[in-house]
Amino acid sequence: MTQINFELRNELVKEIPELLKCFQCGTCVSSCLAERYGKAYSPRRKILMALYGQKDMLAKELWRCLTCNNCNERCPQEVNPYDVLVKLKNFAVKKGLVDETILQPEKTVTETGRSLPLNERVNNQRKELGLNELKEIDELKKLK
Ligand code: SF4
Ligand code: SF4
Repeated sequence: MTQINFELRNELVKEIPELLKCFQCGTCVSSCLAERYGKAYSPRRKILMALYGQKDMLAKELWRCLTCNNCNERCPQEVNPYDVLVKLKNFAVKKGLVDETILQPEKTVTETGRSLPLNERVNNQRKELGLNELKEIDELKKLK
């Protein structure tokens, strides 16, 4: 059974009062693209977990959203769930609650200029396909 973290719940409701407008009807779920990959990714559930003050949701599931905006269009209660999720993300970042693995792709891009770090395997595959070898991105070298 989920234990409610009232301290975190109260902080979230104070910062994002729209959370309380959600009556958990589930209309947003049926058109959510992220929910197709897992029930925990639905906006309805993320809002519920925020109301339960669940840190795990803020750290991980919250970030699984394809930003399609369908939930905003469908919600009959004008919760604007997608906007709520963005506010929850800002809250999670501000409080340092985001799981490191979620931020890894961003770090890789800023540190290497690529979505995946360059490695020998990639270059071996490219060689087999007759493609040129990938090297460190020149602009990033200048910044180091
Ligand atoms: S914007 Fe809403 S409907 Fe679209 S993936 Fe994100 S949570 Fe789901
Ligand atoms: S966000 Fe809107 S559509 Fe989704 S469960 Fe809550 S009230 Fe229903």
